Amino acid sequence: MPLDYSALSSGESALADLTEAARADIAALAYPDKAWVKPVSGPDGDAAADVLIVGGGQSGLTIAAALRREGIANVVVLDQAPAGAEGPWVTFARMPELRTPKITVGMDFGIPNLGVRRWFETRYGRDAWTSLIRLPRTDWMDYLNWYRAVWAIDVENSTVVTDIADAGGLVRVTARQNGAESIRYAKLVVLATGSDGAGAWRVPDFITAALPPDRYDHSNQPIDFTRLKGKAIGILGHGASAFDTAVAALEAGVASVDLCFRRARLPRVNPHRYIENAGIMTHHPLLDDTVRWRIARHFRLNDQPPAWASFERAIAMPGFRMHAGSPWLDMALEDGRIRVTTPATVLHFDHVIPATGQVIDLAARPELNSLHDLVARWQDRFVPPPEEADAGLGQLPYLGDGYEMLPRDPGGPDWVTRVHAFNALSTVSQGPHSTSISGHRHALPRLVRGLTRRLLLDQQHELIAGLEAYADQDLPLPDDFEAALALNGGRPA
Ligand SMILES: Cc1cc2nc3c(=O)[nH]c(=O)nc-3n(C[C@H](O)[C@H](O)[C@H](O)COP(=O)(O)OP(=O)(O)OC[C@H]3O[C@@H](n4cnc5c(N)ncnc54)[C@H](O)[C@@H]3O)c2cc1C
Repeated sequence: MPLDYSALSSGESALADLTEAARADIAALAYPDKAWVKPVSGPDGDAAADVLIVGGGQSGLTIAAALRREGIANVVVLDQAPAGAEGPWVTFARMPELRTPKITVGMDFGIPNLGVRRWFETRYGRDAWTSLIRLPRTDWMDYLNWYRAVWAIDVENSTVVTDIADAGGLVRVTARQNGAESIRYAKLVVLATGSDGAGAWRVPDFITAALPPDRYDHSNQPIDFTRLKGKAIGILGHGASAFDTAVAALEAGVASVDLCFRRARLPRVNPHRYIENAGIMTHHPLLDDTVRWRIARHFRLNDQPPAWASFERAIAMPGFRMHAGSPWLDMALEDGRIRVTTPATVLHFDHVIPATGQVIDLAARPELNSLHDLVARWQDRFVPPPEEADAGLGQLPYLGDGYEMLPRDPGGPDWVTRVHAFNALSTVSQGPHSTSISGHRHALPRLVRGLTRRLLLDQQHELIAGLEAYADQDLPLPDDFEAALALNGGRPA
């Protein structure tokens, strides 16, 4: 069982002190954070954002903070989730602790008082950190909330972006909040929409065809387990969320969980651990197309194993059974129960939960509707050997080195290059690690460089006039200083 650190909590006052210390450190290392981007108005007459970030999860927050450090404060962050519920951490993630090792850096920009370690030690004490193996999941969300408060990042929550389109030198972003639609304009847009930003968590068709909607849930959505009390549950999949969902269901009082997966063996090796080194994570986009394609395919074919803690908890529970080599070949409702046929047997359930991950399907993302036919995808730029073909990966955008979209056709619309994809869309171009906790330190600078580069180039033709008009005095002498010298034998008057 993970330790219960809540009893050790040192309360809000120590954290308030840490907030002040972190802000002081940020200020001490702020140079050169002065604003430099020329304000422009949108067609509505309001100031356009320099950068609009779609998604206020760990990536959106870190991008906003990083831009602040680069002198770009006119940043808008929108998130469809309510405040404090961004990302997966307190909605559908069910594992007790993160998969990422606790020694994680990146969001802190090298400032210890801004990092999760200092935050955790302040909250629970140094000994608690020493004995900690992995961060509790809900503490990670608490840390993200604290981080947002330290930077005073103003996320507009419960606001879903539904379209991103051209606005003649700007990007028009349509959003909906409480049923009301609004339009915003931005010079640049960053999609920080997470691991389902390239598609959707989708229940396989054979399940939706066989069952009414109240007989299944996808594991990557909030599930009300109380209504499943006493029931027999079938889970399809072998990833972390399959095991975490099994544990959550059994703890909530379901009668049994049968976890089925197609593979003959559970994966043992986590390919993420192999690429977590500074070389690959920093320079991934420089790898040639064949290497990048093969890395992405390797990750598609070799899933991560379930986290050890989740696996251990699940197999210790009496109602839990596991079936390797057991894809669901057929499914039907029979006398009110769900009959599932596997190669080895027939199982009966009251409810099923596919834990089948997300599918790549750009058309499933409304915010990409105006974009996806215009941008270069891997299928447009790279032809893999037939045995390495992958229609899903082929759909993903072929991005520039700053995560920017590129036009599909030569001379195609330039506005698409104003949209940067720091989400699952970037998997082949920029590597599978960009948005993960361990990837930020290496990936984020590429994005920030891409954004600041574009903002600077947009205004390069005004730079000379600005330079020539620049009149701030380093040497504050009166206009008649030299004349006075001449009258005074070379001495100041
Ligand atoms: C169960 C689970 C466990 C995981 N465990 C780990 C782990 O231990 N370590 C790790 O590094 N990674 C883990 N991950 C991967 C994890 O998702 C990412 O590391 C992390 O969430 C990425 O942060 P992000 O900000 O890029 O995306 P997210 O945290 O997913 O945030 C994206 C945000 O975008 C918002 N959004 C999406 N579409 C729109 C829209 N159209 N309009 C407005 N807002 C929108 C969403 O509401 C969301 O808040 C896990 C993922 C899952 C599902």
